[in-house]
Amino acid sequence: MSGGDMAKPLLGHRSMEGDPSITPAAGRTVGVLGSGDFARSLAIRLVCSGFKVVVGSRNPKRKAGLFPSAAEVTFQAEAVKKTDVIFVAVFREHYSTLCDLADVLAGKILVDVSNNTEINHHKESNAEYLASLFPACTVVKGFNVVSAWTLQSGARDGNKQVLICSNNQEAKRTVAEIAQVMGFTPVDMGCMSSACEIENIPLRLLPAWKIPIFLALGLFLCFFTYNLIRQVIHPYIREQKNKLYKIPIEVVNTTLPCVAYVMLSLVYLPGVLAACSQLYYGTKYRRFPDWLDQWLQHRKQIGLLSFFCAALHAMYSLCLPMRRSHRYQLIETAVKQAVEKKMNIWVEEEVWRMEIYISVGIIALGLLSLLAITSLPSIANSLNWREFSFIQSTLGFIALVISTLHTLTYGWSRAFDENQYKFYLPPTYTLTLLVPCTVILAKVIFNLPCIQQRLLRIRRGWEKGRYVKFVLPSATGEYSSGETSSNV
Ligand code: NAP
Repeated sequence: MSGGDMAKPLLGHRSMEGDPSITPAAGRTVGVLGSGDFARSLAIRLVCSGFKVVVGSRNPKRKAGLFPSAAEVTFQAEAVKKTDVIFVAVFREHYSTLCDLADVLAGKILVDVSNNTEINHHKESNAEYLASLFPACTVVKGFNVVSAWTLQSGARDGNKQVLICSNNQEAKRTVAEIAQVMGFTPVDMGCMSSACEIENIPLRLLPAWKIPIFLALGLFLCFFTYNLIRQVIHPYIREQKNKLYKIPIEVVNTTLPCVAYVMLSLVYLPGVLAACSQLYYGTKYRRFPDWLDQWLQHRKQIGLLSFFCAALHAMYSLCLPMRRSHRYQLIETAVKQAVEKKMNIWVEEEVWRMEIYISVGIIALGLLSLLAITSLPSIANSLNWREFSFIQSTLGFIALVISTLHTLTYGWSRAFDENQYKFYLPPTYTLTLLVPCTVILAKVIFNLPCIQQRLLRIRRGWEKGRYVKFVLPSATGEYSSGETSSNV
């Protein structure tokens, strides 16, 4: 990721910051219709940015005290007469009550800051509706993606982007100018037909996280059920032992690392599939199927969820010795030992296994933390492309290998112990190894010189079966050209 997420438009449109056609607008008089939360925050920010502010209220006397003394609070009609740019900080359902002002508003710029309560709530966007009520005005959609809180907290905090759209370039430029003086980054979203899209943005709830969260929950549910059968249901059915107490901590703690580990491998699996597709078709210009495209786009979220589960696993593991059940088991073991008169229960192999298992786990968690931190936009912005790809790709892959070592040292020889096959179900760790080991193997194969070379050529634009022009020097030193298949 070369640019910062905040520096580039959220929806891939043109940022107007630094546009030479935008000139400072401080000193201009700006109107605000409405005296609610948004109007108040807007007025405070405008005054702080050097604008003269005139607020139009139905009850100016009562509302004047809520605004900074530098802002003039007057009746709606009076306010509108004093300025050419008016922010309409009123809900859509009250737009029609402003129709009495149509004559005084004619020819002026109306900034629609409104939001809806549901995505695609109305057939037409609020801004288009406002434009239909006031055909003699120029409507600009903007500022709805910033909250009243962001307006008050200033440029230091909160979202800095202000998405703007309008059918009138001049009006859009004027509003962009105001936004810029207020410390925001105006982003040109095009003409009025984008208003609906802009109005839907504040209503979206983590759109990029839905698939990764469902994936994590699905994996959690599968592994949890599997572990529950092995750790709780099996001892109950076979030995009539009540092990329900294991559910809140032990079963959860054996499930979390499974989810974290498989999710981490799912970050790298789509890359492997993409490389297989490129090798198979011998081109990088063929579109990946939609599901693979989607998967590639969600890798960051999948990786962050993997880190989240790994961090929870670390915390649960640290708390294991605090449990009452653990203390009882320790005492029970000690008593058994005393009864059996065993002096030394030290098993060298077990000691080494545990030391390596914990150490490797800590390293894996450390690497995952590094991946998570560097995926934050503010940190990613400070890295160049090579640094970013080294951390996310190379260190990420190393994290996957180390997590595999952590899993293998945990499992050790359990896969070969028939007592571990409860209801013929293999130990959970053997299942989790499946996808990560496939990814690691594939990566190793892709790094074999013959395959790596071919993949590199494809990624530089070479295509299987395409004829390319070649130029050969002749005996006389002149160059002759011809065509050949790049395949040969
Ligand atoms: P609010 O606190 O309820 O204020 C709405 C204002 O509208 C009232 O104070 C009122 O001012 C005025 N108004 C004019 N005609 C009205 C009528 N017929 N009935 C009732 N009120 C009327 O709402 P708000 O939170 O400031 O939101 C205002 C607009 O900003 C909304 O469209 C909202 O979607 C948008 N917005 C708000 C936020 C936010 O964080 N609050 C963020 C983005 C966008 P007078 O009584 O002085 O006339």
